[in-house]
Amino acid sequence: MARIPEPAPDATGVLVQVAGSGLNRLDVFVRQGLTGPGVRTPRSLPHVMGAEGAGEVLEVGPQADTDLRPGDRVMVFSGLGCGHCRYCRRGQSSRCAQYAILGEDVWGVQREHIWLHPQSLLRVPDHLSLIEAAAVPTAYTTAWSMVQTAGRLRLGERVLVVGASGGVAVAAIQIAARAGAEVLATTRGGAKAGRIAALPGVQDVIDSSDPGWHLEVLRATGGEGVDLIIEAVGAPTWRDSIQSLATGGRMLLCGATGGDNPNISIREIYQSHRQIIGAPLGGWSDFTEVVRFLELSQERPLIHQVLPMEQVADAHEIMEDARHVGKVVISIC
Ligand SMILES: [Zn+2]
Repeated sequence: MARIPEPAPDATGVLVQVAGSGLNRLDVFVRQGLTGPGVRTPRSLPHVMGAEGAGEVLEVGPQADTDLRPGDRVMVFSGLGCGHCRYCRRGQSSRCAQYAILGEDVWGVQREHIWLHPQSLLRVPDHLSLIEAAAVPTAYTTAWSMVQTAGRLRLGERVLVVGASGGVAVAAIQIAARAGAEVLATTRGGAKAGRIAALPGVQDVIDSSDPGWHLEVLRATGGEGVDLIIEAVGAPTWRDSIQSLATGGRMLLCGATGGDNPNISIREIYQSHRQIIGAPLGGWSDFTEVVRFLELSQERPLIHQVLPMEQVADAHEIMEDARHVGKVVISIC
């Protein structure tokens, strides 16, 4: 870590004192320098990490187009779009040709002070602390996009969340359970299974350590399989995930943390009318919808651990070893 200068004032921006920043698997990939299709790398070094966060408004630029005032509590949205293309105007910023992610493509929020455009900021619901709010923008927006916007979950459907310990997975469980779905989850080994089974709405936790676990899903669903799958694991779980889908079921993807080249049977997909749908980080409209959902339901993000900035390396290790259930958050100011 090194000290960086205070950011230059931006007349059209808002100065935020960052209280905390949630970690995401993407942060680990950026630090590792992973390359390949769909992997984001910093455009230059040195680099400031952090895709999401929350804090307090310190100053509002004289030409900023906003009703935010100093002292307001705000969340920082991860995605940056051009603001005027047809996707940005629909709130689908993650489809913008100039799409960038804070802390991945450009300097992020893991620092004390940051000037941001007001379009990246949303007020924090009253029931959330700033540390809880710091865990919302990336994971909850992605989960909302997967379950609701792209997944089109209907009342009474069965949902399977694969590798159910990360931030997106836990958020998807909360959203699906509140939406009236029957929720099943998979995890590797028994250590985390108890904590996942204790989440409200989870009906069954299946051990996905060894291939063939889709038979457990079929057993748990009376042979029918599930209607919707939330997948971020990738190659190690794809085959069993697809075989866990009911006829006409949808598998939603937001990541491939375990590998990018799965062993699949094409016939197992089309002959059972199954769909595979890509749903990376959602847009601004998903963000505002999921924050409204948190407000109305009074749900809170599940925080696994809060670590100070000095222990950011330990936080990355927790993510890398997948020891967490829920979000790991870095506290900053
Ligand atoms: Zn755009």
